[in-house]
Amino acid sequence: MSSRGRDKERQLDKVVQSRDESPVREQLVKALDEEGVTSAIYFDNSEKHLEEVGESCKNILLVHVNESKDVPGIDIDESPALRELVYELGPNRYIQTLRQKHRRIALKYDDPESARVRVRYDVLSGINENQLEQLSYWLRHSRSIPGQKAVIFDWDRTLTKTEGIPDVEKQLLKEQDAGQNVTAELRTLREDMLKFVCGGVERLQALRHSFSVINSYGAKIIVLTNNGGCGKKRQFEEWVKQLFYPIPIRIVCSRPFQGDKGKTLGADRSFKMICVSH
Ligand SMILES: [Mg+2]
Repeated sequence: MSSRGRDKERQLDKVVQSRDESPVREQLVKALDEEGVTSAIYFDNSEKHLEEVGESCKNILLVHVNESKDVPGIDIDESPALRELVYELGPNRYIQTLRQKHRRIALKYDDPESARVRVRYDVLSGINENQLEQLSYWLRHSRSIPGQKAVIFDWDRTLTKTEGIPDVEKQLLKEQDAGQNVTAELRTLREDMLKFVCGGVERLQALRHSFSVINSYGAKIIVLTNNGGCGKKRQFEEWVKQLFYPIPIRIVCSRPFQGDKGKTLGADRSFKMICVSH
């Protein structure tokens, strides 16, 4: 090949390389990301929070998730629904550790009543199958481009079926702080906890399937919660991340806004296109 021919080939190489780097695509993705969310769907069991978001934001489809009016602590060995769930789960590290914790308290205070394990579990609550179908319909048919769609989930009694989660990680975290590798034990304990608080293996799998569908559409996932552990308790973030793993999510806490989820979204840069800031 002549030297002129080789020069031409090198030039062509450059053109092809610059096409491969797709600067236009990168710029576009960056620009769209800066523009933020242009449409969203939001699931919450609290009508109050749905109203708050409805008042501050437009183009967010509000979905009211079932709940019971009150959520008293119920004994996992007395409530028929919980007995069934515990039986269905079989050997479960989370429930075992929870029982041990209560037995220790009962012994320490010589109070047999404390050995009973009570959780604020709401049988009626949590996103159900119809709502997950509604979500997949929304993903297919809402008009925003995928990267500008967001799916927002409340945590307690929306993703989970409990109000708060009794924490049994103290011992393992102590060992971790002392330099021991307890990663595998923590993962098992948290997985067993998720099976319980999400109402069983079947519902947990259905949720995770939906998360992968959302992710395959390129929509963003946000957990918007007023849970007291959000931003404060170090495990809270780990629990949420493990539910969604390996799908990336963002956790947004509404506590700094007195629990007002509309104001919370209004103050979030990603929602500047559709929510007003107060
Ligand atoms: Mg809730």
